[in-house]
Amino acid sequence: MSNETVIGRFAPTPSGFMHAGNLLCAMLAYLSAKSKGGKFIIRIEDLDALRCPRSSALEIIDTLAAVGIKSDEPIVWQSERTSAYKSAERLLKSHAEIYPCYCTRAELHAPQITRLPDGGILYPQTCKKLSAEQREEKEKSVKPSFRISVPDEIITFTDGIRGEQRQNLALGCGDFIIRRSDGVYAYQLAVVVDDGESGVTEVVRGADLLYDTPRQIYLQRLLGLPTPKYYHIPLVCDFSGRKLSKSEGDSAQRLLKTFTARQIIGELAFAANIIAEPKPMDIDELIPPYSADKVPKDKIFLTDMFMK
Ligand code: GLU
Repeated sequence: MSNETVIGRFAPTPSGFMHAGNLLCAMLAYLSAKSKGGKFIIRIEDLDALRCPRSSALEIIDTLAAVGIKSDEPIVWQSERTSAYKSAERLLKSHAEIYPCYCTRAELHAPQITRLPDGGILYPQTCKKLSAEQREEKEKSVKPSFRISVPDEIITFTDGIRGEQRQNLALGCGDFIIRRSDGVYAYQLAVVVDDGESGVTEVVRGADLLYDTPRQIYLQRLLGLPTPKYYHIPLVCDFSGRKLSKSEGDSAQRLLKTFTARQIIGELAFAANIIAEPKPMDIDELIPPYSADKVPKDKIFLTDMFMK
């Protein structure tokens, strides 16, 4: 083990209410960094200004603070980092082919297009094959998104919770979007640039992003950035197995009106198997008992306290 400072982060997209599952994820990211004597930072992933109002972001920050989760560094706002993403795009261009894609939603979701396990599509490289004249023609009526070419290469990594992972980029992900047609940089690019700039050494986040990780590792390599250690925590659901939503009913804000922060933290820690009995606790009291080995691998079931 090197003796570099551990830097962990929680990076919510403020597109709705924060639910108990998001709070649990933030708690584990915080505990993971702090249990190694590290720093913890918060980054607001508000790339999409229309979907991510400032008020939702501020509510998330308040909710986190209410349970004792604060950023050790000034909060990073992705909406303020476009120039960093632009520079990264320029650098990527010198290492890989980036091409405009004029395909419509309907074309991308046609029945013959292969679906990926994460709900995305395997892009058939339609626009990669266009001639300069065809591009020029399309340019007149369509604003393109931009895709990066991926090699026929297997990316492997060891997830701290899920173990060995491997994905062939060409077959399991395909050429993916790094800048949308409305000019907004894609999550995949922004997350890599920001983790790199903040010196993030470990990423604790939901398993819904496990499948995206190889393409992020690919971008890290092209940009000459180190790959953090990943810990993908399983889906958090209620005891009937229902996935939580970002609607008000499941919101962490609602919980804070009914329960104390200590009660919520204690119950979440119990649900994540960090402590054996649910009991009110301050988040920092959980630093010593925390270990990624204790976190369930398949599903985390919330206790009845979280149900309406
Ligand atoms: N912003 C993403 C989300 O809220 C998480 C990104 C990440 O942790 O890499 O789902």
